[in-house]
Amino acid sequence: MLLSSLIYKFYHIKHIMRNLLLLFLVFFVFVSGCTQQAEQKILKSPTEEFPQEQSSSNVLESEISIIKAPEVNDASSESLSEDNSENNQPEEVELTFKQVVWKKRIDAALNATLCADIPKPSYPSSYYQGPLTDTHLHIPSIPDWSPEEDDFPTDQAPEGRFGGPQALLGWNVKMSEIICTLEREGTHDNFAFFPVYEGKISTYQLEIWNRTMQQYPDLFTPFIMSPGNDNEPDGFPTVDAETLEDMLAVYPGLFEGYGEIGLYERENGGSPELPPDSPRLQAIYPLVRQDYLVVYFHLGHGHKEKFEKILSQNPDITFIWHGDQLSVEEVEDILSKYPNVYYGIDEFFGGEREIFERYVGKSKKEYLETMNNKFDIVVDRGVKDWKSLIEQYPDQVLWGTDRGDAVWNYDLEVGQMQVKIARAFIGKLDPAVQEKFAYKNAERLIRGEDATSGNIQGDKSLIKSSNELQSNQ
Ligand SMILES: [Zn+2]
Repeated sequence: MLLSSLIYKFYHIKHIMRNLLLLFLVFFVFVSGCTQQAEQKILKSPTEEFPQEQSSSNVLESEISIIKAPEVNDASSESLSEDNSENNQPEEVELTFKQVVWKKRIDAALNATLCADIPKPSYPSSYYQGPLTDTHLHIPSIPDWSPEEDDFPTDQAPEGRFGGPQALLGWNVKMSEIICTLEREGTHDNFAFFPVYEGKISTYQLEIWNRTMQQYPDLFTPFIMSPGNDNEPDGFPTVDAETLEDMLAVYPGLFEGYGEIGLYERENGGSPELPPDSPRLQAIYPLVRQDYLVVYFHLGHGHKEKFEKILSQNPDITFIWHGDQLSVEEVEDILSKYPNVYYGIDEFFGGEREIFERYVGKSKKEYLETMNNKFDIVVDRGVKDWKSLIEQYPDQVLWGTDRGDAVWNYDLEVGQMQVKIARAFIGKLDPAVQEKFAYKNAERLIRGEDATSGNIQGDKSLIKSSNELQSNQ
């Protein structure tokens, strides 16, 4: 499922009144000459405002490593000075109210975390023991509400799309905490869907993703996830080609994938479906080709034929899709016909709706309890549902978690549970396909190799390495 943010809708409706009141208040503060007081409040350090360090006070110092905050680069000062053009002060540039708030959000998103080393978990010998790549990891956005609303209390988080407090980067979860979870749970690479929204916020989001990738180039394979106001009935599941091109041009070569883009009709009155062969997407494929991006879709109902049309029209573009809108027979049919497509398997709920609903929202404690009680049932159901597909098309299937949305989905215990389910499940597959499903297909896909023939398609890492070779000669 696509767990894209609901912030737009939720906040814009629920807090319009509050927004107006706050605007009035801010106006009043300025008019009455109390600007100094206001600034003091805004300039509080990010650590004061976001004191959510890992609860590791009883852990020995030697066991703690610090997940560092990525360095500030030139683009950040550029993006912050843009807003400031009207002030035009050559030195000691004073940031405007808005700039201070956005800078604080960026800093908070990237603040360091104490990350305690934990012993490597050991698994039963029947479990798969090798490397794992999560090919479906949603990264939360920073808050997008207006700077005037920034004192919103973190214990009143907006509700996520599937319930539970929604994760917002720098507000109730930090990038370094997500990284700490990934490093300790033991996934070694992650296809990360980095949200980039339309409007000014994209500058700040892109800066955070760029700094993250500079610091952790091996932990993430970065995808640009750019919905076009998909929470609104007149919105789209993706921005248009022109907007996407502008976003991609900010840090050329930053992204390796485009998605996840959910092409299905949004629940709760959001955007209508967007068929894979729609003019909006047809205008995007040339961009994808030009930038050697992998495409990640969540198809809608009845999209099979239109998707097949796109797969055959674009044999040089690698596509991944997931979701239960197509039947397993339809999935098999597509995999058998097109070597340029992969299917992501991440639904390890064992047909237990109850687990699914807990997983995506409500309560971490209840989720973990239910999972522990039904662990074998869930794994066996996964085997029943997916083993034959994976073994029939071992070069075109990918493991993923589809984590996101709720804060606690980034929690270590939840990450460890996802990894444990995956290792138990993969251990029940034919040994010849285990590594392919766990990480090798993901690795090969990013290298740009065709799924079945091994032909090399366009791929920027190969181009990079051939350039390096040339410059070394
Ligand atoms: Zn998803």
